[in-house]
Amino acid sequence: MNLILLGAPGAGKGTQATGLSAILKIPHISTGEIFRDNIRRNTELGKLADTYISKGELVPDEVTVQIVKDRIEQADCENGFILDGFPRTIAQAEMLEEILNASGRKIDRVVNIVIDDEVVINRLSKRIVCPVCGETYHLEFNPAEDNICKKCGAQLVHREDDKPDVIRNRIAAYHKKTEPLVEFYRHKGNLMNVRSENSIEESLQNTLYALGLKGI
Ligand code: AMP
Repeated sequence: MNLILLGAPGAGKGTQATGLSAILKIPHISTGEIFRDNIRRNTELGKLADTYISKGELVPDEVTVQIVKDRIEQADCENGFILDGFPRTIAQAEMLEEILNASGRKIDRVVNIVIDDEVVINRLSKRIVCPVCGETYHLEFNPAEDNICKKCGAQLVHREDDKPDVIRNRIAAYHKKTEPLVEFYRHKGNLMNVRSENSIEESLQNTLYALGLKGI
């Protein structure tokens, strides 16, 4: 199954994608994580991406699409993939469609994770992440003892772009550039809305239900 997870920053796309990837046994592809990995390794792509990410702006479409194209052409994506944080603009969605068409593939389902801005601001400002394995925690709702990652033991940090003024820009970019994708995919008939204010487990169950996979 080829899946897209749509939704505002902090809607829980990454957490849901991790759960779905384990259940469906298909790779989780997060463009944000690919950029952060490149920033950590100080590659040319990382240096370029950081100039946008640090301000809460989107990385240019051509750069982002090329990364996704290279990734979904890898062998482990043959049986499907979960895109988290991509596409984020109509142009990216159109380019993705062309890439998939060229290899006789298509997007099967688009899960739109619906959430209010106030909840997003609370989640992101109290989010802490593992800089090594990418695991995500929340200071109140999903804390880790002594801020040490339960998975790999690294010291957890606040993401640089989870600062209040950057969060505001990211939410603004979402409404302006990404939200139109909800209509885009609704029009194509493969969109489903899932609310995500509840616990991680409940939100994942809602998504599985919407995908017709409850009970797997
Ligand atoms: P995320 O981890 O999905 O919240 O992404 C973090 C940041 O990476 C975003 O705020 C953007 O600056 C950048 N980014 C991630 N995915 C994309 C994309 N599809 N298009 C443009 N920029 C992106």
